[in-house]
Amino acid sequence: MADVKITKRADDYSKWYGDVIAAAEMAEHAPVKGCMIIRPNGYAIWENMQRALDSMFKATGHQNAYFPLFIPESFLQKEAEHVEGFAPEVAMVTHAGGGKLEEPLVVRPTSETIVWHAYRNWIQSYRDLPLLINQWANVVRWELRTRLFLRTTEFLWQEGHTAHATYDEAERETRTILDIYKRFSEDHMAVPVVAGLKSESERFAGAHHTYTIEAMMQDAKALQAGTSHHLSQNFAKAFDVKFQDESGSLEYVYATSWGVSTRLIGALIMAHGDDKGLVIPPKLATTQLAIVPIFRKEEQKALVMEYVSRMTADLDGIGFKVDDREQYSPGRKFNDWEKRGVPLRMEVGPKDIEKNQVVLARRDTGEKSFVSQDGLRERIVGMLESIQSDMFNRAAEFRKTHSHVIDEYARFNEILDGEGGFLWSHWCGTTGCEDKVKKDTKATIRCIPIDVEKESGKCIVCGEPSGARVVFSRAY
Ligand SMILES: [Zn+2]
Repeated sequence: MADVKITKRADDYSKWYGDVIAAAEMAEHAPVKGCMIIRPNGYAIWENMQRALDSMFKATGHQNAYFPLFIPESFLQKEAEHVEGFAPEVAMVTHAGGGKLEEPLVVRPTSETIVWHAYRNWIQSYRDLPLLINQWANVVRWELRTRLFLRTTEFLWQEGHTAHATYDEAERETRTILDIYKRFSEDHMAVPVVAGLKSESERFAGAHHTYTIEAMMQDAKALQAGTSHHLSQNFAKAFDVKFQDESGSLEYVYATSWGVSTRLIGALIMAHGDDKGLVIPPKLATTQLAIVPIFRKEEQKALVMEYVSRMTADLDGIGFKVDDREQYSPGRKFNDWEKRGVPLRMEVGPKDIEKNQVVLARRDTGEKSFVSQDGLRERIVGMLESIQSDMFNRAAEFRKTHSHVIDEYARFNEILDGEGGFLWSHWCGTTGCEDKVKKDTKATIRCIPIDVEKESGKCIVCGEPSGARVVFSRAY
């Protein structure tokens, strides 16, 4: 276990973030600048995220497929002709097999182009629709400024690409996925999110409109945690994908795409971590319970370990690890499990066994309690559930205290330069006012919230009428 001293959040939030990752041995920088090596403690969280999301996708009728890593350069040019604002941060392969390639290959920037190339052959008739496909893959975007998990040159993600017969059906799909992302974030990550539409300037190039979920980190900045795009017929037109509808006429298909990435691990760290290190919500922890047996003498060891093996036989369905490393003191072990963010720790020594009890220590609150060995499994399950819901409630409370309804533009910088947060303000809908806020305050429109009551007012910048408040914030 690395001996990393963790900087306090209040002293340097950005350094704290890096220290937490190093102390928990989650990831490190790779020899190629901007790439990361994800270590087992980090990758286990990703696997649990994948498992939860994958089952939600499958429960709504999606199937997984895999599209190749290399894409002919001409495919990208084709996309560029149709999609305005296309700015490729692409990596290209120009040489292979000992010679120069006739046509350079692009290393997967996202797979819209290759997917639509294939869909052209797969879709002929309305009977082939809807086509509901997801892939788990890596993506390369040549980033200049990188940070582990948040922005890296190569990252892991899932990308869904669906095709539909009608605009309305594609819209329903876009919203189904947005709902899955919101539920995943809130129920599994214990991170509350605001769901809404992106403004025109923030939406995915090529999308008709983009939905997003926005989470608040502990420095009160926003993090975009997932997006779901309604592509309308844009890609079908670019790749000439038509289908014969029920009346026999040829129509372009409607499409959606959507994705979340390893960036979510960064969000999890920043939403829940504390000055002792990582805090993992129980539903995403592979080790939910760390068991530290305590003893000095050999006969104590036999007694304690006999109890531990008996009680662990009853821990069905709980992820646990017995820390029987002999070279470390109990104190050192407690510290290790804290840094790694394991939700619950159990301590048991000879005195506890005499009293028919164990000690349970919660990672999220630091609270320690003596509990009876009788019915211990149920107690542990109950405590893990409380940790999960308390983590969500704390994050929701934090967001509440850092959310402000603002009608005076002068207050923007005062709040953003101070404690920060989400600013709910009126906006007239023009890019001019949006750009001015960005230039003056470095805050962007995170989303135009859905599922909230609409209220009319006056644009915070120009005073023109506005039909609803939007969320402004500085963001990752
Ligand atoms: Zn305005």
